[in-house]
Amino acid sequence: MATFRFIALEELLRREPLHVDFPSDKISDYFAQCVFTPEKMQRYMPQETYKLVQKAIQTGQRIDRKIADQVASGMKDWAVSHGATHYTHWFHPLTGGTAEKHDAFFDMGDHGQAIEAFSGALLAQQEPDASSFPNGGLRDTFEARGYTAWDPSSPAFIIGKTLCIPTIFIAYTGEALDSKTPLLKSLAALDKAATEVCRYYDKDVTRVISTLGWEQEYFLIDEALYQARPDLALTGRTLMGHASAKDQQLEDHYFGSIPERVSAFMKEFEIESHKLGIPLKTRHNEVAPNQFECAPIFEEANLANDHNLLLMDIMRKIAQKHKFRVLFHEKPFAGINGSGKHNNWSMATNTGVNLLKPGKNPRANMQFLTFLVNVVKAVHDHGDLLRSAIMSASNQHRLGANEAPPAIISVFLGTELSRMLDELEERIPDKNKKMSADEKTALKLDIGKIPEILLDNTDRNRTSPFAFTGNRFEFRAVGSSENSAGPMTMLNVAVAERLIQFKTEVDALIEKKMKKDDAIFLILRRYIAESKAVRFEGNGYSQAWVEEAKQRGLTNITSAPESFKALNTEKSKKVLLGLGIFNERELHSRYEIKLEEYIKKIQIESRVLGDLASNHIIPTAIKYQSMLIESVKSLKEILGNDPEMQDAINGRIMTIKEIAVHISSVRKGVYDMTEARKQANAMASIEERSAAYEQSVRSYLSSIRYHIDKLELIVDDEHWPLPKYREMLFNR
Ligand code: ADP
Ligand code: MG
Repeated sequence: MATFRFIALEELLRREPLHVDFPSDKISDYFAQCVFTPEKMQRYMPQETYKLVQKAIQTGQRIDRKIADQVASGMKDWAVSHGATHYTHWFHPLTGGTAEKHDAFFDMGDHGQAIEAFSGALLAQQEPDASSFPNGGLRDTFEARGYTAWDPSSPAFIIGKTLCIPTIFIAYTGEALDSKTPLLKSLAALDKAATEVCRYYDKDVTRVISTLGWEQEYFLIDEALYQARPDLALTGRTLMGHASAKDQQLEDHYFGSIPERVSAFMKEFEIESHKLGIPLKTRHNEVAPNQFECAPIFEEANLANDHNLLLMDIMRKIAQKHKFRVLFHEKPFAGINGSGKHNNWSMATNTGVNLLKPGKNPRANMQFLTFLVNVVKAVHDHGDLLRSAIMSASNQHRLGANEAPPAIISVFLGTELSRMLDELEERIPDKNKKMSADEKTALKLDIGKIPEILLDNTDRNRTSPFAFTGNRFEFRAVGSSENSAGPMTMLNVAVAERLIQFKTEVDALIEKKMKKDDAIFLILRRYIAESKAVRFEGNGYSQAWVEEAKQRGLTNITSAPESFKALNTEKSKKVLLGLGIFNERELHSRYEIKLEEYIKKIQIESRVLGDLASNHIIPTAIKYQSMLIESVKSLKEILGNDPEMQDAINGRIMTIKEIAVHISSVRKGVYDMTEARKQANAMASIEERSAAYEQSVRSYLSSIRYHIDKLELIVDDEHWPLPKYREMLFNR
């Protein structure tokens, strides 16, 4: 019967040929060729069914069994006509990646004959054995049942011969075991809250979606060099390696011409992505050598995120074809830039308005201002929650490590816009006074000038974790390997909560007979004042900002486990549970999974470093040291009495001693690190364990590395067992 097992999408991509036949030079000829798009749905299912599915997508309504049967049948017909033989539910377990389970389109008929089958029940739900996915205590390990259920808002697609159906992943109890379910809930919460606020301005607004355009940074490394670096292969980053004499100083890589092999790789993964409906548009070199970026046209956030996860898998596959490995780790190489996944985010109405884009008339600008101020206040109030969603063992190397956005969550608006908010705060009187008609007109006129202000306002701040860029916010602090569902969920939730509050407060004033515009002004004024501390226009990488942020009362948490605690505070619970994004158990499970993952990552790094130090580095250094000793002996034997040779002999002896010092430091470091691990592992609570890994075990990674990197400079290049930075970063 049906084959029943889990494989990673990566694995599927490895096995299935992608048929890159360079269909045509025109992207429009093959764009979304492998996607069950609304147009194809219309062709493959009854009109009524199609309409109901579209409605379900818009409203989040349930699709009943009969409809699901018709959708399944249409989906299957389409897939089979494209050569598909299997189907899979594709979901996002809490590992941060994606997973799937494959079944054949095949069943036994009453008379033992084989029939091609795929029913609505199978479309709507599958029951994989999911006991080996992290669940943070949500499901007892013996309770292996988890369900996947179709997410109609993300269209099905074909990879090779497999129809992939995007799904949510929930436990038997209904609790979410994935990152998509909370994202969908947060999108619904934001939709509801934002729509209500929009209706102050435009009664035609019935729906607000959140939009996401990610920019994906990554490194490429030659496959052979990758395989020769066990640290890269096992942990995703280099745990040792002296800086290359030349790396990014000259900034000659940024936007430079793309090397040929890299360009061939990019073209191919772009074609594959386009066939799967991923609207990739931009590609360029990044600052660091062998670092690159790609970005699509933005889409609805849930779909955009599915597309990002799919793209990462496609890139891994295509890279191997070109004898590359693609590195999504936030900091694969020390000393040069790391990689981020900037999340460009905004909100758009069903009437086609981008709520973070200033409009053509004062009214539209009032609406823009309303949303802008509410977002700033939301980030001010829930910076800790946002940080908890972007922190990880790998992104910790970026955040707060004086390169790329700091661990202080602040908002950049640009000088002009920021000044405008300051002015508004000054000009709008507080509760007790009233604005005269003239004052009000003047204020509205000024607000009407926002688009002009922004036209001139071309300043970009690349050091801000959360920057306004003219028609959207760019959440720059997100890590390159991160599943954006987490950060996007937290952002949507923070903004939804704020908009709900805003509406309540404005309505309360209207109830008391205040005019709507006055009420809106008054509340916005208060929000501007209350969220002032989070606005920062200066250099986010500077030490001065660290001091200033402290005085402003902003938190600066560079420790990952510490930052996760934000998931456990009463304040966060109030919004996350209050808006129904998680229940108490689900939220706690997220917290535990983050801590657990952190511990494991550092533990693996520590073990790999220990192994490499003991099996690769120390023996190599000893060998070279013995050669020097032999050479000193011979020199002394032959030329020992020659006074001119004393310098040479002494020099060699100094090197021998230097090597001895580094070797014993490495050896002692590895011993102490192992002891620190033992101690940490023995701790009863996961919080203590993660803190011990963060504070104790982790510190050895850099102190041991220091001595290894010194040895790399001393030992004969011919004997050094690992590819060096200059080789890895400049081979393309
Ligand atoms: P930059 O380098 O200036 O940041 P890029 O072109 O690299 O610009 O990336 C900009 C990203 O922002 C693209 O993915 C784009 O689709 C996205 N974007 C533009 N407008 C919006 C919007 N309204 N909502 C979400 N994302 C947007
Ligand atoms: Mg950008």
